[in-house]
Amino acid sequence: MIDLDTPRMFDLSGRVAIVTGAGSGIGQCIALGFAQMGADVACLDRRTDGGVQATLDMIAATGRRAIGLAADVTDPEAMNRAVAETESQLGPLSIALNAAGIANANPAEEMGVDQYQTLMDINLKGVFLSCQAEARAMIRNGGGSIINIASMSGVIVNRGLMQAHYNASKAGVIHMSKSLAMEWVDRNIRVNSISPGYTATPMNTRPEMVHQTREFESQTPMQRMASVQEMVGPAVFLASQASSYCTGVDLLVDGGFCCW
Ligand code: NAP
Repeated sequence: MIDLDTPRMFDLSGRVAIVTGAGSGIGQCIALGFAQMGADVACLDRRTDGGVQATLDMIAATGRRAIGLAADVTDPEAMNRAVAETESQLGPLSIALNAAGIANANPAEEMGVDQYQTLMDINLKGVFLSCQAEARAMIRNGGGSIINIASMSGVIVNRGLMQAHYNASKAGVIHMSKSLAMEWVDRNIRVNSISPGYTATPMNTRPEMVHQTREFESQTPMQRMASVQEMVGPAVFLASQASSYCTGVDLLVDGGFCCW
């Protein structure tokens, strides 16, 4: 007999998760997905008066507990407080998914230092500070799973998009995740990243992107953009025991984009 219970491998019952960027797009949908799989979820975003309230309402309908946290991921003290609040209200943290991020574009020769620095602060330093606060709790708790949302832009250069800073930030997230995975491998903390391809979210409806949607679709082997729902399965996999031997992995979820 083989001792195997495959459905239970994906179960997140009794687990406590924190999701950054939980008020919109990919983070919002994954926060709901974690709750549907049984986790209680702390939903962190810059503000809690907008999209986070909708996330909390959707999670409440699943019967799981959820709290909203207003914090800026670039502020280390705010991130430490957010993790402390999560644990005092929901219990010991063992899952973290870091989706907070921004995107914008500008030709490199015209990009101001402020535009470069603000994006790097949120997309790279913000992920580091999130991981740091989350891992401090997980080290105390005996382990956990951290998942960082990178991008296929950390692997390829998007044709026609002038976003050197964004692409560099995402390459940084992928390699930082691998580095943290190795630092914490003996603390029972797994660190992986998910690299989405073009995904239909508010990030992709910003003005300079509108005319490019068709091009995104035609450049993608599957001939369409991803829906946010399609990021949930990979996130549940990496959060759960189903991925117990995966650490330092970058999971491309890109409709085949990086094959071409
Ligand atoms: P989104 O809908 O704009 O959601 C991002 C969320 O992060 C927003 O609620 C945003 O709040 C929040 N956020 C931004 N800066 C923050 C900060 N300093 N502190 C706390 N929260 C902050 O974007 P998305 O498309 O879901 O993107 C989620 C992640 O996936 C990002 O890391 C993005 O780079 C990555 N990604 C997206 C795509 C895609 O095609 N959409 C593809 C690959 C990777 P505000 O609205 O207040 O800024």
